[in-house]
Amino acid sequence: PRLTLKTTTSQGSQKNNGVQVYYATQFNHLPISRRTLYALKDSGYQQLTAIQKKALPLGLRGNDILGAARTGSGKTLTFLVPILEHLWRMDWTSWDGLGALIISPTRELAMQIFQVLRKVGKNHCFSAGLVIGGKDFEEERERIGRMNILIATPGRLLQHMDQSTDFDCSRLQILVLDEADQILDMGFQRTIDAILRNLPKQRQTLLFSATQTRSVQALARLSLEEPEYVAVYEKT
Ligand code: ADP
Ligand code: MG
Repeated sequence: PRLTLKTTTSQGSQKNNGVQVYYATQFNHLPISRRTLYALKDSGYQQLTAIQKKALPLGLRGNDILGAARTGSGKTLTFLVPILEHLWRMDWTSWDGLGALIISPTRELAMQIFQVLRKVGKNHCFSAGLVIGGKDFEEERERIGRMNILIATPGRLLQHMDQSTDFDCSRLQILVLDEADQILDMGFQRTIDAILRNLPKQRQTLLFSATQTRSVQALARLSLEEPEYVAVYEKT
Protein backbone atom coordinates (compact mmCIF):
# COMPACT_ATOMS: atom_id res chain seq x y z
CA PRO A 1 0.00 0.00 0.00
CA ARG A 2 1.16 3.50 -0.71
CA LEU A 3 1.92 5.79 2.13
CA THR A 4 -0.57 8.54 2.78
CA LEU A 5 -0.03 11.09 5.48
CA LYS A 6 -2.70 13.11 7.17
CA THR A 7 -2.10 16.79 6.70
CA THR A 8 -2.87 18.39 10.01
CA THR A 9 -1.20 21.53 11.26
CA SER A 10 0.55 19.69 14.07
CA GLN A 11 2.74 17.95 11.53
CA GLY A 12 5.92 19.31 10.14
CA SER A 13 5.84 20.75 6.66
CA GLN A 14 8.40 21.97 4.20
CA LYS A 15 8.38 23.83 0.90
CA ASN A 16 10.07 21.73 -1.71
CA ASN A 17 10.14 23.24 -5.22
CA GLY A 18 7.00 25.11 -4.37
CA VAL A 19 5.21 21.93 -3.30
CA GLN A 20 4.16 21.69 0.31
CA VAL A 21 5.54 18.43 1.72
CA TYR A 22 4.14 17.12 4.96
CA TYR A 23 6.01 14.69 7.11
CA ALA A 24 5.09 12.73 10.20
CA THR A 25 6.42 13.87 13.54
CA GLN A 26 4.21 11.63 15.66
CA PHE A 27 3.20 7.98 15.52
CA ASN A 28 -0.44 8.96 14.95
CA HIS A 29 0.52 10.70 11.70
CA LEU A 30 1.68 7.40 10.26
CA PRO A 31 -0.54 4.91 8.43
CA ILE A 32 -0.56 2.31 11.20
CA SER A 33 -3.26 0.21 12.83
CA ARG A 34 -5.06 1.32 15.98
CA ARG A 35 -3.83 -1.84 17.68
CA THR A 36 -0.27 -0.71 17.29
CA LEU A 37 -1.00 2.95 17.87
CA TYR A 38 -2.79 2.39 21.18
CA ALA A 39 -0.04 0.11 22.44
CA LEU A 40 2.58 2.71 21.52
CA LYS A 41 0.57 5.32 23.37
CA ASP A 42 0.22 3.07 26.44
CA SER A 43 4.00 2.65 26.43
CA GLY A 44 4.47 6.41 26.36
CA TYR A 45 5.63 6.67 22.75
CA GLN A 46 4.16 9.63 20.92
CA GLN A 47 6.76 11.78 19.18
CA LEU A 48 9.00 10.14 16.61
CA THR A 49 12.75 10.19 17.07
CA ALA A 50 14.90 11.39 14.16
CA ILE A 51 15.59 7.90 12.77
CA GLN A 52 11.92 6.95 13.17
CA LYS A 53 10.83 10.06 11.23
CA LYS A 54 13.06 9.17 8.32
CA ALA A 55 12.89 5.39 8.30
CA LEU A 56 9.37 4.47 9.46
CA PRO A 57 7.54 5.81 6.38
CA LEU A 58 9.95 3.83 4.18
CA GLY A 59 9.74 0.71 6.30
CA LEU A 60 5.95 0.83 6.34
CA ARG A 61 5.97 1.17 2.55
CA GLY A 62 7.95 -2.03 2.25
CA ASN A 63 11.33 -0.61 1.27
CA ASP A 64 14.61 -2.25 2.16
CA ILE A 65 16.52 0.02 4.51
CA LEU A 66 20.16 0.52 5.41
CA GLY A 67 19.91 2.50 8.63
CA ALA A 68 22.74 4.22 10.44
CA ALA A 69 22.12 5.77 13.82
CA ARG A 70 23.86 5.73 17.16
CA THR A 71 22.81 3.58 20.11
CA GLY A 72 19.80 4.97 21.92
CA SER A 73 18.28 6.66 18.87
CA GLY A 74 15.17 4.47 18.78
CA LYS A 75 15.97 1.86 16.16
CA THR A 76 13.93 -0.88 17.82
CA LEU A 77 10.55 0.67 17.01
CA THR A 78 11.85 1.52 13.54
CA PHE A 79 11.73 -2.19 12.73
CA LEU A 80 9.12 -3.53 15.16
CA VAL A 81 6.33 -1.25 13.91
CA PRO A 82 6.75 -2.21 10.22
CA ILE A 83 6.82 -5.89 11.25
CA LEU A 84 3.56 -5.63 13.18
CA GLU A 85 1.88 -3.63 10.43
CA HIS A 86 3.02 -5.86 7.60
CA LEU A 87 1.75 -9.02 9.29
CA TRP A 88 -1.44 -7.28 10.37
CA ARG A 89 -2.18 -6.09 6.83
CA MET A 90 -1.64 -9.63 5.59
CA ASP A 91 -4.00 -11.09 8.23
CA TRP A 92 -1.14 -13.25 9.44
CA THR A 93 -2.26 -16.01 11.81
CA SER A 94 -0.55 -18.73 13.80
CA TRP A 95 -1.11 -21.06 10.84
CA ASP A 96 1.00 -18.88 8.58
CA GLY A 97 4.22 -19.64 10.41
CA LEU A 98 7.27 -17.47 10.55
CA GLY A 99 6.61 -14.00 9.16
CA ALA A 100 9.40 -11.94 10.65
CA LEU A 101 12.90 -12.71 11.85
CA ILE A 102 15.07 -10.34 13.88
CA ILE A 103 18.74 -11.19 14.24
CA SER A 104 20.55 -9.62 17.14
CA PRO A 105 24.22 -9.99 18.14
CA THR A 106 23.68 -10.87 21.81
CA ARG A 107 21.17 -12.56 24.07
CA GLU A 108 20.82 -9.40 26.14
CA LEU A 109 19.92 -7.24 23.14
CA ALA A 110 17.55 -9.92 21.87
CA MET A 111 15.76 -10.00 25.22
CA GLN A 112 15.47 -6.19 25.21
CA ILE A 113 13.87 -6.27 21.77
CA PHE A 114 11.51 -9.00 22.98
CA GLN A 115 10.40 -6.84 25.91
CA VAL A 116 9.62 -3.92 23.57
CA LEU A 117 7.75 -6.26 21.23
CA ARG A 118 5.65 -7.54 24.13
CA LYS A 119 4.59 -3.98 24.86
CA VAL A 120 3.96 -2.58 21.39
CA GLY A 121 2.53 -5.85 20.06
CA LYS A 122 0.21 -6.52 22.99
CA ASN A 123 -3.00 -5.77 21.03
CA HIS A 124 -2.06 -8.11 18.19
CA CYS A 125 -2.40 -11.90 18.25
CA PHE A 126 0.98 -12.84 16.84
CA SER A 127 3.14 -15.42 18.55
CA ALA A 128 6.68 -14.34 19.25
CA GLY A 129 9.69 -16.11 20.67
CA LEU A 130 13.36 -15.90 21.49
CA VAL A 131 15.96 -18.20 19.98
CA ILE A 132 19.07 -17.21 21.84
CA GLY A 133 20.74 -20.26 23.26
CA GLY A 134 21.31 -20.75 26.95
CA LYS A 135 17.94 -22.44 27.06
CA ASP A 136 17.09 -26.04 26.37
CA PHE A 137 17.50 -26.66 22.62
CA GLU A 138 14.76 -29.28 22.54
CA GLU A 139 12.33 -26.94 24.22
CA GLU A 140 13.16 -24.20 21.70
CA ARG A 141 12.85 -26.69 18.87
CA GLU A 142 9.43 -27.70 20.07
CA ARG A 143 8.11 -24.12 20.10
CA ILE A 144 9.93 -22.72 17.10
CA GLY A 145 7.53 -24.04 14.48
CA ARG A 146 4.64 -22.11 15.96
CA MET A 147 6.23 -18.67 16.05
CA ASN A 148 5.20 -15.75 13.82
CA ILE A 149 8.00 -13.46 14.98
CA LEU A 150 11.38 -14.73 16.12
CA ILE A 151 14.20 -12.81 17.75
CA ALA A 152 17.40 -14.77 17.45
CA THR A 153 21.13 -14.73 17.90
CA PRO A 154 23.01 -15.94 14.78
CA GLY A 155 24.61 -19.14 16.06
CA ARG A 156 21.53 -20.58 17.66
CA LEU A 157 19.35 -19.64 14.70
CA LEU A 158 21.60 -21.47 12.25
CA GLN A 159 21.64 -24.49 14.55
CA HIS A 160 17.84 -24.65 14.34
CA MET A 161 17.91 -24.16 10.58
CA ASP A 162 20.23 -27.16 10.34
CA GLN A 163 18.65 -29.42 12.94
CA SER A 164 15.02 -28.56 13.59
CA THR A 165 12.73 -30.11 11.01
CA ASP A 166 9.85 -27.94 12.22
CA PHE A 167 11.71 -24.76 11.39
CA ASP A 168 10.16 -23.39 8.21
CA CYS A 169 11.08 -19.91 7.03
CA SER A 170 9.74 -20.29 3.50
CA ARG A 171 7.05 -17.66 4.03
CA LEU A 172 9.27 -15.09 5.73
CA GLN A 173 8.19 -11.52 4.96
CA ILE A 174 10.66 -9.37 6.87
CA LEU A 175 14.24 -9.88 7.97
CA VAL A 176 15.91 -7.48 10.42
CA LEU A 177 19.65 -7.40 11.00
CA ASP A 178 20.06 -5.29 14.12
CA GLU A 179 23.44 -3.95 15.22
CA ALA A 180 24.98 -5.43 12.09
CA ASP A 181 28.42 -4.02 12.85
CA GLN A 182 28.44 -5.81 16.19
CA ILE A 183 27.22 -9.05 14.60
CA LEU A 184 30.17 -8.93 12.21
CA ASP A 185 32.68 -7.85 14.88
CA MET A 186 31.70 -10.92 16.87
CA GLY A 187 32.74 -13.14 13.97
CA PHE A 188 29.30 -14.12 12.70
CA GLN A 189 29.93 -13.24 9.05
CA ARG A 190 29.82 -16.81 7.78
CA THR A 191 26.93 -17.70 10.05
CA ILE A 192 24.93 -14.82 8.61
CA ASP A 193 25.87 -15.83 5.07
CA ALA A 194 24.57 -19.33 5.75
CA ILE A 195 21.37 -17.98 7.32
CA LEU A 196 20.76 -15.72 4.31
CA ARG A 197 21.11 -18.70 1.96
CA ASN A 198 18.24 -20.38 3.84
CA LEU A 199 15.86 -17.43 3.55
CA PRO A 200 13.49 -16.64 0.70
CA LYS A 201 14.86 -13.95 -1.63
CA GLN A 202 11.52 -12.22 -1.92
CA ARG A 203 11.30 -10.34 1.36
CA GLN A 204 11.81 -6.97 2.99
CA THR A 205 15.11 -6.49 4.78
CA LEU A 206 15.97 -3.82 7.33
CA LEU A 207 19.63 -3.54 8.29
CA PHE A 208 20.71 -1.31 11.16
CA SER A 209 24.20 -0.49 12.24
CA ALA A 210 25.74 2.17 14.44
CA THR A 211 28.76 2.36 12.15
CA GLN A 212 29.13 1.83 8.41
CA THR A 213 32.22 -0.31 8.11
CA ARG A 214 33.37 -2.02 4.95
CA SER A 215 32.05 -5.36 6.19
CA VAL A 216 28.66 -3.80 6.90
CA GLN A 217 28.62 -2.48 3.34
CA ALA A 218 29.39 -5.98 2.08
CA LEU A 219 26.59 -7.46 4.15
CA ALA A 220 24.25 -4.75 2.88
CA ARG A 221 25.08 -5.65 -0.72
CA LEU A 222 24.42 -9.30 0.04
CA SER A 223 21.15 -8.88 1.91
CA LEU A 224 19.42 -5.72 0.64
CA GLU A 225 17.72 -4.87 -2.63
CA GLU A 226 17.70 -1.27 -3.79
CA PRO A 227 17.84 -0.07 -0.20
CA GLU A 228 16.96 3.37 1.04
CA TYR A 229 19.93 4.74 2.94
CA VAL A 230 18.85 6.45 6.15
CA ALA A 231 21.46 8.07 8.35
CA VAL A 232 20.99 10.19 11.44
CA TYR A 233 23.92 11.86 13.08
CA GLU A 234 22.65 13.88 15.99
CA LYS A 235 24.80 16.41 17.75
CA THR A 236 25.12 15.65 21.43
P1 ADP B 1 18.67 1.90 19.68
O1 ADP B 1 18.23 0.54 19.26
O2 ADP B 1 18.81 2.85 18.53
O3 ADP B 1 19.90 1.86 20.52
P2 ADP B 1 16.30 1.84 21.30
O4 ADP B 1 15.32 1.42 20.29
O5 ADP B 1 16.80 0.81 22.25
O6 ADP B 1 17.54 2.55 20.60
O7 ADP B 1 15.69 3.08 22.10
C1 ADP B 1 16.43 3.78 23.06
C2 ADP B 1 15.52 4.35 24.13
O8 ADP B 1 14.67 5.35 23.56
C3 ADP B 1 14.61 3.32 24.76
O9 ADP B 1 14.56 3.54 26.14
C4 ADP B 1 13.26 3.58 24.12
O10 ADP B 1 12.21 3.24 24.99
C5 ADP B 1 13.32 5.07 23.86
N1 ADP B 1 12.50 5.47 22.69
C6 ADP B 1 12.53 4.93 21.46
N2 ADP B 1 11.67 5.57 20.64
C7 ADP B 1 11.07 6.53 21.37
C8 ADP B 1 10.06 7.52 21.09
N3 ADP B 1 9.52 7.65 19.87
N4 ADP B 1 9.68 8.34 22.09
C9 ADP B 1 10.24 8.22 23.32
N5 ADP B 1 11.18 7.32 23.66
C10 ADP B 1 11.60 6.48 22.70
MG1 MG C 1 19.06 -1.32 19.37
